[in-house]
Amino acid sequence: MGVINLLYGWSIQVRIFDKCIDCGACIDICPNNVFAFINNKVYVKNEEECDANGACVRQCPVGAIIVRNKDGHYIIK
Ligand code: SF4
Repeated sequence: MGVINLLYGWSIQVRIFDKCIDCGACIDICPNNVFAFINNKVYVKNEEECDANGACVRQCPVGAIIVRNKDGHYIIK
């Protein structure tokens, strides 16, 4: 479980919208290996390891990623 989840009791959700172009930038930038390719499509594979550092959101060229808490409030988008 990621540090932020442990410290704050958040249940961080990482979502990729349909406008994703599967460029893989989020895979390359994420230090926690949250994302992965499966059959040339990017998926969230390790949501529980997300520490909400926002690197994927900043790196995504099409604004396809949001990071939110379990209440649906955006942490980063
Ligand atoms: S960086 Fe954005 S567009 Fe690229 S694979 Fe990740 S979610 Fe999709």
